[in-house]
Amino acid sequence: GVGVSWPVFIVKAGGGVLVDVDGNSMIDLGSGIAVTTVGNANPYVVEGVSRQVADFTHTCFMVTPYAGYVEVCEALNRVTPGDHEKRSALFNSGAEAVENAVKIARAYTKRTAVVVVEHGYHGRTNLTMGMTAKNMPYKEGFGPFAPEIYRVPTSYPFRDGPHTGPEVAKWAISRIEKEIGASNVAAIIIEPVQGEGGFIVPAPGYFSAMADFAKANGIAFVADEIQSGFCRTGDWFASEHEGVVPDLITTAKGIAGGMPLAAVTGRAEIMDSVHAGGLGGTYGGNPVACAAALGAIRWMEDEDAPGRARAIEALMMPRLRSMQENHPAIGDVRGRGAMLAIEIVKVGTMEPDPERTAALARFCVAQGVIVLTTGTYGNVFRFLPPLTMPSHLLEEALGIIEQGLDATA
Ligand code: PMP
Repeated sequence: GVGVSWPVFIVKAGGGVLVDVDGNSMIDLGSGIAVTTVGNANPYVVEGVSRQVADFTHTCFMVTPYAGYVEVCEALNRVTPGDHEKRSALFNSGAEAVENAVKIARAYTKRTAVVVVEHGYHGRTNLTMGMTAKNMPYKEGFGPFAPEIYRVPTSYPFRDGPHTGPEVAKWAISRIEKEIGASNVAAIIIEPVQGEGGFIVPAPGYFSAMADFAKANGIAFVADEIQSGFCRTGDWFASEHEGVVPDLITTAKGIAGGMPLAAVTGRAEIMDSVHAGGLGGTYGGNPVACAAALGAIRWMEDEDAPGRARAIEALMMPRLRSMQENHPAIGDVRGRGAMLAIEIVKVGTMEPDPERTAALARFCVAQGVIVLTTGTYGNVFRFLPPLTMPSHLLEEALGIIEQGLDATA
């Protein structure tokens, strides 16, 4: 049941390059699915992890705590949007963070319904599978799914025709009011830029309208920033772009330079509504993973990581747009910062072209560029370079993508 995109076994990685067992160097446009934002072996992370692993690897924070966990929570409370009083709790994976955000929102609101959106992705555990939109490969044969999950429209500018962000939000809100009842909703959970759904950047005003509706109705508004967070989009968190301060925010992936760590951060009154012992887990906030996170966050602050992501956008976006002019199979170019994508369609139509997308990906990998595809229709090419990627490698990778577009025409 575990799939492998590319059978390339890696022995060393860093600076935007993966080196395989045969000594081949490959340009990494995937960052291990948006994880190694600070690089695969960032010195800040290596130093922190090495020191911690020599001191102790585990005690279980719920048994005998340690400072690293508390320091990561303090850092999260500092860097996440909003200057209100916050609390954080640490877990192992993104899915686990989402599950815990739902638990916390339900405990606080004393309501049960969870609202998610079309094309959303939140994980592979039972609850988060139910919250995830796409059937294959995530859900097929794995049901039944948890109850009280409701899916409403999302803004997908390329496919929404002339409809604006606030208009789509109005439909979504109407569905919540008419079919669920706002007073039954514990949480609305949305990715500010959708990852697995296809790097969909909602039209301006959609995300903030959903947040405003949640606020007006006592619903916890949860931003799933697991893929979009930690400087990926040119802001520390993608919610900031719309000026939204979420009640709860889920993070993972880029948080700890490749070590497994995840978190829920949120308003103190919401987080503190849960009884002690209600949240946790054996490994949640493991000390080695916490040391990695402290190193990664310090690097992001020292090196102006959001600025680096914006510089990657400034380099890549014009190139992708000029490719679009020459290749009508590129229906859309979108994204922010170092979270960019092209959507591949059958020429002259809006019809997704997953076959050409796959062929293009195979071409790129054969030429030494690791790429990831994504999207509900399997027709989106996503670019997630580590922020340590030098410009000349980005240029080289873009050249190979362009050759691939010619070769697959
Ligand atoms: N939410 C989002 C937005 C994600 O992109 C992902 C991972 N792709 C998850 C949740 C689940 O994270 P994990 O794989 O660490 O469980």
